[in-house]
Amino acid sequence: MEQPYASRRERAQTRLQERGADGAVAYPGPNLQYFTGFRGEPVDRFHALYLPAEGEATLVTPDGYHTQARTNASVEAFRTVPGNDPAAVAGALAELFGDGDRLLVDDDALHALTGPLYAELGAESVESAAPLFRALRRRKDESEVTALKRSAAVADEVSEAVRALGAEAVGLTEAELATEIRAELHTRGARSVAFDVVVGSGPNGADPALRFSDREIRASEPVVVDFGCFLDGYASDQTRTVVFDGDPPARFPDVHEAVLAALDAGVDAVEPGATAGDVDAAVRETLADRGYGDRFTHPTGHGVGLASHEDLSIAEGEETTLEAGMVFSVEPGVYFEGEFGVRIEDLVVVTEDGCERLNDSPRTWEPL
Ligand code: ZN
Ligand code: ZN
Repeated sequence: MEQPYASRRERAQTRLQERGADGAVAYPGPNLQYFTGFRGEPVDRFHALYLPAEGEATLVTPDGYHTQARTNASVEAFRTVPGNDPAAVAGALAELFGDGDRLLVDDDALHALTGPLYAELGAESVESAAPLFRALRRRKDESEVTALKRSAAVADEVSEAVRALGAEAVGLTEAELATEIRAELHTRGARSVAFDVVVGSGPNGADPALRFSDREIRASEPVVVDFGCFLDGYASDQTRTVVFDGDPPARFPDVHEAVLAALDAGVDAVEPGATAGDVDAAVRETLADRGYGDRFTHPTGHGVGLASHEDLSIAEGEETTLEAGMVFSVEPGVYFEGEFGVRIEDLVVVTEDGCERLNDSPRTWEPL
């Protein structure tokens, strides 16, 4: 497959020129990976990509990590600096920047390079690169959609494996099931979890912010299971609500059906030209029609890509227009405090004439 990195850098360069900026710097993490294929983590290795508005991109690397960078990064030029010294890397970046006026610097996360860079260049010539990088990463190219589908497939497989536990899951603590899920993800090639696994049994499932606890999973109670992994740098994220054994609470089947209908309505509303708010409204109205509107207490979804939560927000009144290539979650939930919660989540990619789901594992609550 043709490497997408050069064309991503070209698109960035066009935008730099449009903005009248002379260059941009990307740090290790999602942005460096986006432009070079090399994630460069952990963050205490001070690689940095210098991308000028015109001309060749240069990856500045500490000499100790030079081989690793050369093997993994697809970029026109490399420059090595001695040691692993942020000031030396900042010096090299300043040299590449030369007598430019405006440099856009990666600030998605605090980074040890930022201080030295400001010191080298002066605060007046440095600006955030976040708006530019986010805009570029929002629409996924073909190779990214392929990677996201692979990551989603791993999450789906693990979801099915977990649900196949059936009655065996009863008596495990939430933490133990979370450990099992992490192990299953790693077995299938995941590098890490995309965010900490959520196992919310019974009343714990009613708190969408909770991850897991030492509470034992019991028969006849709904369990919200929400997780994803990083595979080749790309995140997955899906949720199913399961009853591992026994009969669920009386009102649960109706709630589950309503959440499923809300998910379907949300997915049906996804097409180029619709807004993020339209998708949220479709979900919210479906739940309201069924009497659960006031129990859906969070936004409908979020962007997913090289990070598990990207800045695209599928929420009430969001006016962002959906475009082909955007990938995000649709994740309605209904929560009964002290009793149980139900959330079902799929990722979708916007296509030219609608959307495609990235997840296809069973959405029923019964054990598989
Ligand atoms: Zn999730
Ligand atoms: Zn999510």
